[in-house]
Amino acid sequence: MKKHNFSAGPCILPAEVFQQASEAVLDFNNSGLSILEISHRSKDFVAVIEEARNLALELLQLDNNKYTALFLHGGASMQFLMTPHNLLEKKAAYLNTGTWASKAIKEAKLFGEVIEVASSEDKNFNYIPKNFEIPTGIDYFHCTSNNTIYGTQLKSFPKSNAPLVCDMSSDIFSRDIDYSQFDLIYAGAQKNIGPAGTTLVIINKAILGKVSRKIPSILDYKSHIEKESMFNTPSVFAIYTSLLNLRWLKKQGGVSALAKINKHKAELLYAELDRNPLFTPYANKEDRSLMNITFNLANPELSHTFDALWQQAGINALNGHRSLGGYRASIYNALTVESVQLLTEVMQELENKA
Ligand code: PMP
Repeated sequence: MKKHNFSAGPCILPAEVFQQASEAVLDFNNSGLSILEISHRSKDFVAVIEEARNLALELLQLDNNKYTALFLHGGASMQFLMTPHNLLEKKAAYLNTGTWASKAIKEAKLFGEVIEVASSEDKNFNYIPKNFEIPTGIDYFHCTSNNTIYGTQLKSFPKSNAPLVCDMSSDIFSRDIDYSQFDLIYAGAQKNIGPAGTTLVIINKAILGKVSRKIPSILDYKSHIEKESMFNTPSVFAIYTSLLNLRWLKKQGGVSALAKINKHKAELLYAELDRNPLFTPYANKEDRSLMNITFNLANPELSHTFDALWQQAGINALNGHRSLGGYRASIYNALTVESVQLLTEVMQELENKA
C-alpha cells in the first residue's frame, strides 16, 4: 500500500508522475530506448529541457525575454556559492532565518562583505525578523522564502533598489506571489519540482556581468545561459521527471490552483494543532509555513504512542529535522487533503487514548 508521505524532501510527487517517469525508464517516447540511455543532445531530450525551462517561467508568470530558467547540478547548496560568485562585487545583505540561510551567508563571506540585516537565531529561528533595514550600496539582498527545518515562511518580501535573490527550495510553485519581484530564484528540485539531482535557477539576465572577478566557466551563469542549460551533461532523468511534474501542475490549474489547496491543507493541520492540547506548534503564528508544519508533543512521554499511531496509519516521515527534533509534516503540492485529514484523525486518536 502506498504510504502517506510527509517527507521534507526528497518527497512525494503525484502518482501519475511516478507512473510516467517509470514508463520512460523502459521506453521513452516509443523510441525503443530508455530515458536513461539517450543522449542529452538527442532531439527528444532537447525538446524536454526546452519545454521544462519554458514551463517553469510560464507557471511563475515570468517574462521569458527578461528571465531565463536553468536546470543545474549541485543542489541549492551550490547556489549558496554561485550567487555570490556571480553577483557579489563588494557587499551583499542577507536575512538569517535558519540553517540554510546561515549556510548561504557562510559561502557569501568567501567573496565579499556580508551584512546580516537581521537574524531569528535568538529564538532558534521560530520566527521571521521584521522591520529590518536593507542598506544602500549593496550588490544584492538574499533571503530564504521558506525555512524547511523550522517551519517558518516569509509572507512578504522587502523592497529595495538592490537585486532580490531568493532561496525558494521548499516553497516554489506552492503559493500565489508576484515572482517578478525577484531577480534570482533558486530551488533544489527535490520538493515541489521533481526528484533530487537538479536545481532550478531563474535569473533576470540584466543583473549578470557586473563583477570584475574571473568566474570559472562551470560556475558562471552566463556559460549555462549561452549553452541553453547544456554546458555539461544535465541530469536527464531528473529534468524529465521535473517536466512531468510541471505539466501536472499546469493541468491542475497552475500555481494559484495549488496555492488554494495548499492553504486549505495547512489550515486543517494548524487548526488541529491549535485545538488539540497534546500538541504545541513550533513556529510563531504569523510566520507559519504552509509547506513544513513543525510541532512538538506537549508531553514528550507520549511520543511512543503517537509514533506507533501514525506509523500504523501508513504515514511516513513525520519526525522533525535531526537538528530540531519534534515533528514536521511537510505538505508539498502533491500531498493530498486526504493525507492531511488522516494525520489530524491520528492526532485526535491520540487525544482519545491519552
Ligand atoms: N535551502 C533550503 C530552503 C532547503 O530546504 C534545502 C534542503 N532541504 C537546501 C537549501 C539545500 O538543498 P540541496 O540539498 O539541494 O543542496
